[in-house]
Amino acid sequence: MSRILIQNGTLLTFGRPCRVLEGMALLLRDGHIARIAPAGAIPGPFDRVLDAKGKVVMPGFVNAHMHFYSTLVRGLGKAAPSRDFQEVLTNLWWRLDRQLTLDDVEVCAQVILLDAIRKGTTTLVDHHASPGAVSGSLDRIAKAVKASGLRACLCYEVSDRDGATVTDRGLEENAAFARACAEARDPQLRALFGLHAAFTLSDATLERATRLGHDLGIGFHVHVAEAASDVAMNLEKHGQTPVTRLAAHGILGKGSIAAHAVHVDEADMETLARTETFVAHNPQSNLNNAVGIANMPELVRHGVRVGLGTDAMTVNMLEELRVGLWAQHLRQDDPSCGFMELADTLFLRNPELATQLWGFPLGTLEEGTAADVILVDYDPPTPLDDSTALGHLVFGISQATVDTTICGGRILMESKRLQIDIDEVALATRSRELARKLWERF
Ligand SMILES: [Zn+2]
Repeated sequence: MSRILIQNGTLLTFGRPCRVLEGMALLLRDGHIARIAPAGAIPGPFDRVLDAKGKVVMPGFVNAHMHFYSTLVRGLGKAAPSRDFQEVLTNLWWRLDRQLTLDDVEVCAQVILLDAIRKGTTTLVDHHASPGAVSGSLDRIAKAVKASGLRACLCYEVSDRDGATVTDRGLEENAAFARACAEARDPQLRALFGLHAAFTLSDATLERATRLGHDLGIGFHVHVAEAASDVAMNLEKHGQTPVTRLAAHGILGKGSIAAHAVHVDEADMETLARTETFVAHNPQSNLNNAVGIANMPELVRHGVRVGLGTDAMTVNMLEELRVGLWAQHLRQDDPSCGFMELADTLFLRNPELATQLWGFPLGTLEEGTAADVILVDYDPPTPLDDSTALGHLVFGISQATVDTTICGGRILMESKRLQIDIDEVALATRSRELARKLWERF
């Protein structure tokens, strides 16, 4: 029965509206936010009292689309220069993921999860691929998640690009992990059914995945219309856009995540809205791969639920938010557009997604939500209140350092020191060793 009091800080609630609360303390009890009240009004005793003077107190961030497995690619210079997105996949990612071992997979997750603690991202929705080591891969990632103290929703990305045996293994890996997850009901772990993208999936595989996913009662996590080539290949081969084709197979829906949705037309947007599919916008990745930028105001105007992911570019959600804003200004040729649409992704939609996946309230500071809380060093140089909170988050707090990260009421980092049982130096050494070997096999 742990009781942690956080006092003297400025609270940013997230949600809509994102409220700023002064003079209020937060009581965390048994993994939940039990009370938000003036400090003196919350009776002790407390196991811990955290002084948040000079800090803002916010919910831990949710990352709606992530790939832990890309961690060991940092600095790899052996891929041939790519002229378009298809070549980015064939020259780099599909060459790399085939070489990953189960040990690589686990270390990738361990390293990036520590980074997530440091950046205050407490919930991550991952999308995993290791065609040379499929079976058991999600268990190895889950082990790293357990040790980190964070929350993650895992899936294996099924595709037909590596032949029938790997497809079968991918389908089975999703099903096995989802079954184990449903049984364990571990508050740190959830499962979705992973699919790569419509252009690497046959109708037969989509049908098998749909049947399995629906039997398991889970949604799908799939890349959709990331590059124009996804649309062109599906139109040519199947006479349908990726959105139409996935919807026809029953892949889209309220429990499903469509990552990207950059190249969607009017009808696609209507389908995404009607099916209540969650779209994960990943602006930094889209810019990096030069695939274009989703039309955020149009998606939102059509009623599509759009959240924010990093697609493994970082685990820093406020950085992603900033870049998303700049990208939209450039795309629309309008320096004033998109502010609310982008802010809603992180402060409203991502908490909604996490709440839906986990089945209990996550991602905002409210009584009754999970005790996923971060303290950030930030003494505002201009007035900070309800009307200015977004400006502070984008231009100020995004540049500040996370001091303390708490997930499920457990302190994972305090005063910038990790509080979990992981030897960071040994982990970095091992990660470099495995990376060197992986790069040799690449
Ligand atoms: Zn992705």
